[in-house]
Parts: sequence; C-alpha cells; structure tokens
Amino acid sequence: MLSIPFNKPHLTGKEAHYMYQAVYNGKLSGNGEFTKRCQHFFEERYGFKKCLLTTSGTDALEMCAMLCDLKPGDEVIVPSYTFVSTALAFLREGAKVVFADSMKRNPNLDAETLEALITPRTKVIVPVHYAGVACDMDAIMSIAEKHNLLVVEDAAQAIDSYWKPLPTSPQGEEKKPLGTIGHLAAFSFHETKNITAGGEGGLLIVNDERFVRRAEIIWEKGTNRAEFFRGEVNKYGWVDMGSSFLPAEINAAFLWAQLENLDEIQAKRKQLWNRYYELLKPLADKGYFTLPDIPDYATNNAHMFYLILPDLEKRTALIKYLKDNGVLAVFHYLSLHSSAYYADKHDGRMLPECDRYADTLVRLPMYYDLETDQVNEICRLILRHYEH
Ligand SMILES: *Cc1c(COP(=O)(O)O)cnc(C)c1O
Repeated sequence: MLSIPFNKPHLTGKEAHYMYQAVYNGKLSGNGEFTKRCQHFFEERYGFKKCLLTTSGTDALEMCAMLCDLKPGDEVIVPSYTFVSTALAFLREGAKVVFADSMKRNPNLDAETLEALITPRTKVIVPVHYAGVACDMDAIMSIAEKHNLLVVEDAAQAIDSYWKPLPTSPQGEEKKPLGTIGHLAAFSFHETKNITAGGEGGLLIVNDERFVRRAEIIWEKGTNRAEFFRGEVNKYGWVDMGSSFLPAEINAAFLWAQLENLDEIQAKRKQLWNRYYELLKPLADKGYFTLPDIPDYATNNAHMFYLILPDLEKRTALIKYLKDNGVLAVFHYLSLHSSAYYADKHDGRMLPECDRYADTLVRLPMYYDLETDQVNEICRLILRHYEH
C-alpha cells in the first residue's frame, strides 16, 4: 500500500553545514551574517524595498499591524477564508476585523464586495494570496487609493509568485512579484511552505518608505539599535513600541541553504503541479470536481494543489478513500467569521463562498520530495474512486 504524507519538509543538503557555520561564527543572535544575506537575496531578486526576517509569518503580520498604527475602533478588512493569524495580528492591535467573502472562481478575497464594507473607520485591506495565486490587485489597489487605505499583502504562501497586469491595468505594464504591491507584506517560511527557515520563520516587506525606520525599531524591541550599529546615533535606547521579532542566526542559515536552491525547488514543484493538472483534467471535465483557478493576472508558484468538490459529503468520501489507500489529503480553513472565538463578534453577514470552500476544498500531497510516480499513483486512486 502507498504511504504518502500530505507534506514533508525538504532538505537541500546544505542546511546543517550553514547552521554549523552560524554556530561557529560566534554570533548566534539575530541580524548577523546569514540574516543579512537572506534579506539581501530577497531585495535583489524581487525588488522589495526593505526586508526584515522574522521568527514567523504571524510575527511579520503582527509587525504590519503595529506599523498601521491603528486606533481603537479602526476597521481592517480581512478575508474569512484564511489562516487565523491574518485576522489575529490586527485584532491584537485593537482593530475591528471586518470579514470579506471569497470569489466564486477561487478562494481569494472578492474585490467586488469590498466597496460595500468600507466605512469612515476603515484603515486597512489585507488581501491573502491563497495557494500563492495573486488576488485581483488592480481592483484592490484602486479601491484602496480611492479611499486612502493601506494594503497589507498576506503573501505567506506566495513566495516566487507574480501578479501580471492586464493590458487595461492602471498599475502599469510590468509583472510584479507578490509582496511588492501593497504598502507592507508578510511571507512565511513555516515548514509547510515552499521554502522553510528550519520549521518556523517569516519575512516582513516594507514597500512604503514611510514605514522603514519604524519597522526596524519595532523589529528590535522598540529600540533604535539598528541605527546605532550603522553608526547613525552614538547610543541606543527605547524609542517606540516593539517586540522580539528577529530570528536567531541558525534559522537564517537554514533558510540560506533553501534560497540557494530556490529555482530548483520551484521547478520541481511546478512539474508535480502540472502533472496533477494534466492527469486530473479529464475527471474535472466530467464534472466530478474543479481544478485550481489561476486568473490571467496571476502566476502559479505551485504552493498547493487543491480540488473543489461539489459538496461536503463527496469531499469526506474522497478524503476517506485516499486515506484508506495510504494517501493523506486534507481540507483547509474553517470560516473565521463563524469560529468559536469570533462568531459573537461578527456582524452577522453571510459569507457563502467562504463557507463553500470550507466544506468542499481538499488539498493533495505537494512537496519537493514527492515523485512524479507518486503523483501518478494518487491520480490513479482518484480515478478509481470515481470510475470503479
Ligand atoms: C502560513 C500562513 C500564515 C502564518 O505563517 P506562520 O509562519 O505559520 O506564522 C499566515 N497566513 C497565511 C495565509 C498562511 O498560509
């Protein structure tokens, strides 16, 4: 029988080597050689204005929320179909979280519903690029500009993915890496993402110059230590809010090994993803399920391969059939607006698309060390489930 997990963290082979180097460099705490190397890599490759490594994607989102400088009662629009951290980061800052529904075509925030959610208290929109697929950033950025709102991209799943403007785009012609479009953005290097910083890790992106200085201070526990180390001030002290957001050098060293192999990792993941798509297309054409949607304005970073089933019962049956045959396929988010913690704080609006994805989306195994043959086997099982 097959035994295929849902996820398995990939080791490039150099992680332990770089971690050993980090240990014997004699500087173990954050913001050392490997941290700088990783940040520089991202700034060069994707054109991010300012990068700061963090201990998690959640922490990067919390830094974004702190930088937005929210006042009690300020409102932040967040999709309900997302990970808890997207909402929690802003809730912790005293904001009121206003949940938005997903699109019909894919789980990303539906920009057409945005305008109706905006009030004089709205300060921030947080698009989540689900499965690494870009949200409709033309629509979201123009609504944000019109109402003078900040945009924080939750790009946790979206490393090495792009947004492509359509010919009519007011945002210009160039394709843009996800994470460069909003004022601020957050990536995750948790072990379930395309690349990892040794299990937990994240990255804050500051695209708007106005936030750069304060981001460094918040990163360094509310002190202007970064300026001190650059020789810009002759002593450092407590100047603002902050917390401990820097990862230790051994985590940055682990991430560096993954970054050296980023192209190879991405190529293999895309190959597996395309294989799934090709083998499952005939079943999708027969109406058993729908395949992942990649709009014309988005690229695919092969973070995730998901299917949308017609209903909860059919999804449960497929997950069980795969599990009985040694393949772990898993559903994803439960709607945040009806969660145990938030249900009584939500304003009661129905978010039907979000609830539909909560009931019908299933994710298939997707990781670097998965073999093409195993994808073939998984697809053969799915075929047998439907056509035996
Ligand atoms: C993974 C993820 C996060 C949280 O990242 P961590 O590194 O696990 O803290 C936040 N938002 C989304 C959409 C994610 O997928």
